[in-house]
Amino acid sequence: MRAFASHFIDGRAEPSLSQKTFASIDPATGKDLAQVAHGDSADVDRAVSAAMHTFNEGTWRHLPPPERGRRLGRVAELLRERSDELGELESSDTGKPLINATAEVEQAATLMEYAGGLAEQVRGVVHPDVPGSFIHSRREPYGVVGAIAPWNYPLVLAAWKTAPALAVGNSVVLKMAEQTPLSTSVFAQLCAEAGIPAGALNVVHGDGATGAALVADPRVAKITFTGSTDTGRAILREAAKRVKSVHLELGGKSPNIVFADADLDRALKGTLFTAFANSGQLCTAGTRLLLEASIADEFLERLCERAEALMVGLPQRLNTQLGPVISDQQRQRVERYIALGLEEGASLVSGGGRPSEPELRDGFFMLPTIFADVTMDMRIAREEIFGPVLAVTRFENEDEAVRLANDSDYGLAATVWTSRLDRAMAMVDRLEAGIVWTNCPHRLAWQVPYEGHKQSGLGEDLGTEAIGTYTHLKVSYMQFAGDPASL
Ligand code: ADP
Repeated sequence: MRAFASHFIDGRAEPSLSQKTFASIDPATGKDLAQVAHGDSADVDRAVSAAMHTFNEGTWRHLPPPERGRRLGRVAELLRERSDELGELESSDTGKPLINATAEVEQAATLMEYAGGLAEQVRGVVHPDVPGSFIHSRREPYGVVGAIAPWNYPLVLAAWKTAPALAVGNSVVLKMAEQTPLSTSVFAQLCAEAGIPAGALNVVHGDGATGAALVADPRVAKITFTGSTDTGRAILREAAKRVKSVHLELGGKSPNIVFADADLDRALKGTLFTAFANSGQLCTAGTRLLLEASIADEFLERLCERAEALMVGLPQRLNTQLGPVISDQQRQRVERYIALGLEEGASLVSGGGRPSEPELRDGFFMLPTIFADVTMDMRIAREEIFGPVLAVTRFENEDEAVRLANDSDYGLAATVWTSRLDRAMAMVDRLEAGIVWTNCPHRLAWQVPYEGHKQSGLGEDLGTEAIGTYTHLKVSYMQFAGDPASL
């Protein structure tokens, strides 16, 4: 068992004031990996005080922007230097295949570098007006940003949330999900090593109540949250009390639409990827497969064959494609949805249970599962499951594909498989989603912004647009001549 994962407050590793801890569990074995400091409102209070103090002192936000950028770039270098160790830690804490976890260290590093470049791009505008007056507007950091993250991509999300917020001069208090706190503690240490001053980045570990304390703290001016839509709603309700600015990246039930004119081999590969990558624990996962009727039987048969050949296994094995889901609780949730799909009358055509290999017995593994004959009134077609469960529905023509795809409370992403450019362009116009991928599911470039539509989010992420997300506007009117306002 690893030692102890602490909070990181005011530049130091700290236990909870209450001394309370919780266990972080390896989802592949069910064993405890580490004890973790369990923060409550007193620890949140300390972290926010440190963040506020650093913001007011200006030791971070008043550094020349290129210097802030350089230090964020230095975090990227340190992440890369420790990539093997961090990959292993992340893999054991999340259960994801070691190869993927290690690749995510590189993604986190690239995010830090990208955000480092943003530091120099915070600009203002001069607004021409009458002679003798000078009007300008500029973007300013909010002050203390509270960042709350889920467990599916811990290190990537730690960087994703904190890097742009820090780049533009805010101080941050980060609360990672209770299931996956370990890489975040190392991340905070590396940020300190890279010269991010004490108090600029703080980490408090804990559960939903810890997150709620962060949202409720009146000194936290901005909340950035990634997670479930229900928790997003709870955060909005709390933030409404103080009209606090909130940025949300929430759930999805993204359609993956395969037209008969598509390159079906590529579509097959991409469908397996979008449905089952990270064991289906991905907000943009293509969990609703819409198949044009003329190719549906053959496509589905090939899909089931390929899904059954996917390697569900221990994360350390090089050939593993699906690790466990994050927790026993999450596996039970997935199993409840599978039972529900059967009750609702969908046809289970692949998977549906746990793997039988003895070495996987103690972990939270699930087989990739496919339901056919799914209709949009079924809960397995409407609700986010967050596990390796794919719901398949047929359509007759483009209009029906659009109607089915848009019949959702969510609007995060959609994938279209087609060889026809006119159709691809029409689908981009007609689909209600923040991202539309044509023949390339899950492409995300850090320089490209996006936002969820409908109940999938609020506010823009990534790109230079992230500057807008982590700053607010100030306008200044100056006049040295002429008549001031008179009654
Ligand atoms: P999931 O259902 O995927 O576990 P959640 O949306 O509940 O996702 O959790 C994502 C993050 O939000 C976690 O860090 C969790 O501790 C935190 N969280 C849960 N409930 C609340 C809340 N009421 N206020 C703030 N944060 C919360």
